[in-house]
Amino acid sequence: MAQLTLDEVTKTFQDDDGEIIAVDEVSVDIEDGEFLCVVGPSGCGKSTTLRMIAGLEDITRGEIRLDGQIINDQPPARRNVAMVFQSYALYPHMTVRENMAFGLEESTDMPDDEINERVEQACKDMGIFELIDRKPGELSGGQQQRVALGRAIVRDPEVFLMDEPLANLDAKLKAEMRTELQELQHDLDVTTVYVTHDQTEAMTMSDRIAILNDGVLQQCATPLECYHEPNNLFVAGFIGEPSMNFFPMTLEGSTLKGEWFEYELSDETVAAVEGTSDITLGIRPEDIEFVQSDTSPNVFDSTVHVVEPRGNENTAHLQFDESMDDQFIATVGGMKQLKAGQRVKVRFPENAIHLFDTESGQAIR
Ligand code: ATP
Repeated sequence: MAQLTLDEVTKTFQDDDGEIIAVDEVSVDIEDGEFLCVVGPSGCGKSTTLRMIAGLEDITRGEIRLDGQIINDQPPARRNVAMVFQSYALYPHMTVRENMAFGLEESTDMPDDEINERVEQACKDMGIFELIDRKPGELSGGQQQRVALGRAIVRDPEVFLMDEPLANLDAKLKAEMRTELQELQHDLDVTTVYVTHDQTEAMTMSDRIAILNDGVLQQCATPLECYHEPNNLFVAGFIGEPSMNFFPMTLEGSTLKGEWFEYELSDETVAAVEGTSDITLGIRPEDIEFVQSDTSPNVFDSTVHVVEPRGNENTAHLQFDESMDDQFIATVGGMKQLKAGQRVKVRFPENAIHLFDTESGQAIR
């Protein structure tokens, strides 16, 4: 059992300009065996959160509990967590075997033959047994990454902490390692907190995603929930590639009026948004429909500005008014031929739109 709880965890730093709140009252329960990805833009507090769990950074306020025990003041070596860094942090003068054994030799009194057994088993699990007597300089990036993971595995930790472990790998290797890591985590069933700014990694690997912005937790939910039911404008814009399109509107009666188009809401939706007048309408690029006629409601004329072919689909940059800077994006199947300059009719289906309170940013539907 390894349930990890962050309870209003806060971290402030002091610099010349005053106090920086790096992590602001973050609360999350990470279940035994769960794979949680922490995502957010640069500087949002991801690494600081991970470092506090590892014990590498003091906690200013709040509690971190492992299986109900407060670990705030426990030194890193006693926490039974293993951290894997982006830089691998391997010792260049030691072999794979020595690198992997080092942590155990230093921090435990485990007999040498048991250490050796664990190291060899981890090398077999990671598919690097034949490299066991090589030094890091004689390994590829992906192999070094496996050694770094193996070094965490031999400690048989209750929690894996990973800080952008795949960031230095090329796209192909990254995709391979993503699958491997998932399989490994699944096989070992170890509670894992994984920091990344790569939302593909977060969407594909995690059980749940915790999205941070400015140190504040915006949403913690499954990848699909974050995608389909974002809590606020930040999550809606952060999750999804290409990003959701946003249009600022004003509600008048049952009509959302914007600079480029007017959107007619159903009675049910009007009831749901009642009381809010400044509303941001969001629609994902893949939810925009290309239609032939405009007899149905909420169909708008636009012009194709640029088309980016992506193989199985195209990304079309569209404009309501060619003379203005009002581009929005729609994705269309690869078979559909669109050309720059072409006039098209697009429909925003009501069941696909997201509505946010423009002032607070909170989702209202
Ligand atoms: P990145 O994706 O760029 O690695 P991050 O989300 O991991 O960013 P953190 O490294 O956790 O962000 O930093 C959060 C905030 O805390 C930033 O504003 C950063 O400048 C600040 N910060 C981090 N460490 C320190 C420190 N030792 N002293 C002062 N400020 C710090």
